Amino acid sequence: MEHHGGCHCGNLWLRLRLTRQPADNPTRSCLCSFCRAHATRTVSDPMGRAEIGARDWSGVERYRFSTGTADFLLCKTCGVYIGAVCETANGTRMVTNVNSLADRAAFPPASSQPDHDNESTAARIARRAANWTPAVLLAV
Ligand SMILES: [Zn+2]
Repeated sequence: MEHHGGCHCGNLWLRLRLTRQPADNPTRSCLCSFCRAHATRTVSDPMGRAEIGARDWSGVERYRFSTGTADFLLCKTCGVYIGAVCETANGTRMVTNVNSLADRAAFPPASSQPDHDNESTAARIARRAANWTPAVLLAV
């Protein structure tokens, strides 16, 4: 099933294809301080696909912190956080902030609150390679 979303002002958008129905996707509220500040609820599907686009990529913040291995995509105009992308051995992978999707209400509340603070960088990237959604960033 395909889902559409993006930031509030419309500069940053995404299309997300998931193999399960929305209600059957477990969602997570990560315990890191970034996710707590944004009250994120995230989803990923290694068999799905994400396409991310922007009218103007110069208006997109690729925020990095901690291990610096993922770009947290935020709109510079409206501040919405749509998800993070990471380069892995399996290509570009994304975790999506469900709350930035138009049909966010169809997804369940977060069923887990993972704490990845003590994970090594190698283990972190391997986890993303296995669990996050294959993603494409579109140039236009
Ligand atoms: Zn925006």
